Amino acid sequence: MSRIETLCVQGGYTPKNGEPRQIPIIQSTTFKYDTSEDMGKLFDLEASGYFYTRLQNPTNDTVAARICALEGGSAAMLTSSGQAANFFAVFNIASAGDHVVACSAIYGGTYNLFAVTMKRMGIDFTFVSPDCTDEELNAAFRPNTKALFGETIANPALCVLDIEQFAKAAHAHGVPLIIDNTFATPVNCRPIEWGADIVTHSTTKYMDGHGSAVGGAIVDSGKFDWNRYADKFPGLTTPDDSYHGITYTERFGLEGAFITKATAQLMRDFGSIQAPQNAFLLGLGLESLHVRMKRHCENGQAVAEFLAGHDKIAWVSYCGLPGDKYYERAKKYLPNGSCGVVSFGVKGGRKAAEAFMKHLKVAAIETHVADARSCCLHPASATHRQMSDEELLAAGVSPDLVRLSVGLESKDDLIEDIAQALAAI
Ligand SMILES: *Cc1c(COP(=O)(O)O)cnc(C)c1O
Repeated sequence: MSRIETLCVQGGYTPKNGEPRQIPIIQSTTFKYDTSEDMGKLFDLEASGYFYTRLQNPTNDTVAARICALEGGSAAMLTSSGQAANFFAVFNIASAGDHVVACSAIYGGTYNLFAVTMKRMGIDFTFVSPDCTDEELNAAFRPNTKALFGETIANPALCVLDIEQFAKAAHAHGVPLIIDNTFATPVNCRPIEWGADIVTHSTTKYMDGHGSAVGGAIVDSGKFDWNRYADKFPGLTTPDDSYHGITYTERFGLEGAFITKATAQLMRDFGSIQAPQNAFLLGLGLESLHVRMKRHCENGQAVAEFLAGHDKIAWVSYCGLPGDKYYERAKKYLPNGSCGVVSFGVKGGRKAAEAFMKHLKVAAIETHVADARSCCLHPASATHRQMSDEELLAAGVSPDLVRLSVGLESKDDLIEDIAQALAAI
C-alpha cells in the first residue's frame, strides 16, 4: 500500500486486532510510569515513549506518520501552526550569527517571521527571486549560510519554484533545501523526489481542508548528510548538553536526527504542540485530500479560464493556463494540477478589487485559503499590509491582486457568482 490515495486514507495507522478503526484522540497531558527509572530513560532519550504532551502525543505522532508517508520522508512532526513549522525547520539548524537564503515569493507571514522576527534573533536572510538565474542564486550564499527556503507554489503570488534548481544550489553550498509544500500538497507534488531535504506545511490549508483546525507539519527526508558538513551543523553533530551529551546524528541516524532535535529541544522549549483534537481533525481531512485536491484543481482551472476571458479582468495568474509564466514549469512539477488558488487583477486597481469582492455571494472575504468553501482576500490591504510597495513587488503581490481560493462548490455557481460581481462594478 504505497499509492498516494491509499496513504491518504490509511497511512501511518494500522490498528491491531480489536483496536479502534479511527485514530484515537489521546486527550491526556501526561503519561503514567511504574518507576522513576523508566521515566528517566525517556528524559535521556534512551527509551522512546510519551511523558508530557508539550513535547509529544500519540495522536499527533500517528497523524505525522501519515504526512511523513505522503511526502516520502523518514520522520515527521506536527506543530501548532504553519508558522511554528517554518520557524522550527529553520531555527533547528540556524542560530544567531547565521544566514539563510529564501525565495522572496513566499507567504507574507513567513516573510515577516524571517525578515523581522528571526532577524531580531540574529539570523540574517537574503531573499532571491523565484526566477533567479543560477548565478544570482549562488551569489546569495555566504560561508555562514545554513539553509535555502522556498515554496512549491508561492502564496499568494502563485509562482512555481524550480525545485531542482534550488536543490542543486543548496547542495553545492552544503546546506539543505527546505520547501513549504502547503499549496501543492503531496498529492500534487512531492518535493523530496525533486531534491528537497525538508518539507513543511501549514496543515491549516488543504490538508485539514475544512477551515477547522490551525496546524503545521515538518517532514525530514533523512537524506541530507549533516555529518559531511559537521562544522556547519554543530547542533546535530556535536553533543547536546541539555540532553546529557547526546549527539543527534549518532544516536538517531540521518533519518531521525533532525526531527528528534526539533522535538527534544524546540518543542520542549517553545511548546508549539498541536492539540491532539486538532491532529484528529487533520487526520480526518487527510483521508479525503486526494479526492478534494482533484476537485479544487478542476474548479480552479474553470474559474481561471473564465476570468482570463473576461474584459473587466486585467490579468490572471494560474499555472494551469497556457501562456502563464509558470505553465511549462508546472507541467514538470505539477502534472496533475496545482491547487485551487487563482490570483488576478480587476481593471481599475485597488478600488475595483474591493468593490468586486463586496458583491461576491458564494465566495466570502476571509484571511484564509484552501478551504472547502470558496473565499477571497485582497492581500495588499490584509496579510501583506505591513509591506512597502517595493517589498510587495518582490513578493509578487501587486496592489490590485485578488486571491481567490476556489472551493468545492459547483463550478457553475462559482462562475455565475463571479460574473454577477463583475457586472455590478
Ligand atoms: C498559511 C501559510 C503558512 C502559515 O501557516 P499557519 O497555519 O497559518 O500558521 C505558511 N506557509 C504557507 C504557504 C501558508 O499558506
